[in-house]
Amino acid sequence: MIYGDILNTSNLFWYFMPFIVGWIMSEPEESKAEQKARIKKEKQERREARKKEEVTKKILARIEKEYTKIKPCFVISCKACGDNAVVVTFDITGRKITVSTLVNYTLKGNISAQNHAAKVSDMEFTEAFELAKSGEYKKLNYFSHGLTTYKDGFRIYLFEDGLKNFCKDCNAAYCHKHHNTYPVYEDDGWYDYTDWVCPKGHSHMIDD
Ligand SMILES: [Zn+2]
Ligand SMILES: [Zn+2]
Repeated sequence: MIYGDILNTSNLFWYFMPFIVGWIMSEPEESKAEQKARIKKEKQERREARKKEEVTKKILARIEKEYTKIKPCFVISCKACGDNAVVVTFDITGRKITVSTLVNYTLKGNISAQNHAAKVSDMEFTEAFELAKSGEYKKLNYFSHGLTTYKDGFRIYLFEDGLKNFCKDCNAAYCHKHHNTYPVYEDDGWYDYTDWVCPKGHSHMIDD
C-alpha cells in the first residue's frame, strides 16, 4: 500500500515536471507597448519580403523575355590589355550561374582553371544578373561568396575565395598574360602558399 503511494507521488511529480520547467524557463511577459512594436516590426518585415519577391518576379519575367534564345553571358575584360579574363553565364531556365576564370594557375603543382556552377534561388539569380549586367563586378565578386550549391553531397561556393584573377585593390580582373603566380616554399621544400601579383603590384594569396 505504502509502496503504491510512493509510486503515485513520483508519477505525479513527473507528470507536472514539464509544466514546472516551462514555468521556470518562461520569459517575462511583454508589455502592451512591446507587443505592439513587435507586431508592427513583423508586419513591416513581411511587407518588405513580399515587395522583394514581387521585384524578383518582375526582373525574372523581363530577363526571360529578353533572353529566350540565347544564354546571357557577360565577359569581364583584362584591365591591362582588354582580353577576356572572366566569363559569367546565366542559364535562366535552370537558374544556374557559371563562372569561369580564363586563367590557368599552378596550385600545388597542378594547373587548374577556376570553373564553378551553382544552382541558385530566384532572388540570388536576379541579383547576380543585375550586378553582372551593370558591370558591378566587385559587388558580384563579394556577393557570389554567398552563392552556394551542393556537389556530390558537399557544399561548394560558386567562387571559393572570390575570383582568383580579380584584384580587389584595382577593382578589375586580369587575363592569363597578366596573372603571375608565385608559389612559396618553406626552407625544407614543403609547399606553403601561392601568391599572385597584379600588374599594379597588388599581391593576393590564392592558395594556402
Ligand atoms: Zn591582359
Ligand atoms: Zn591590383
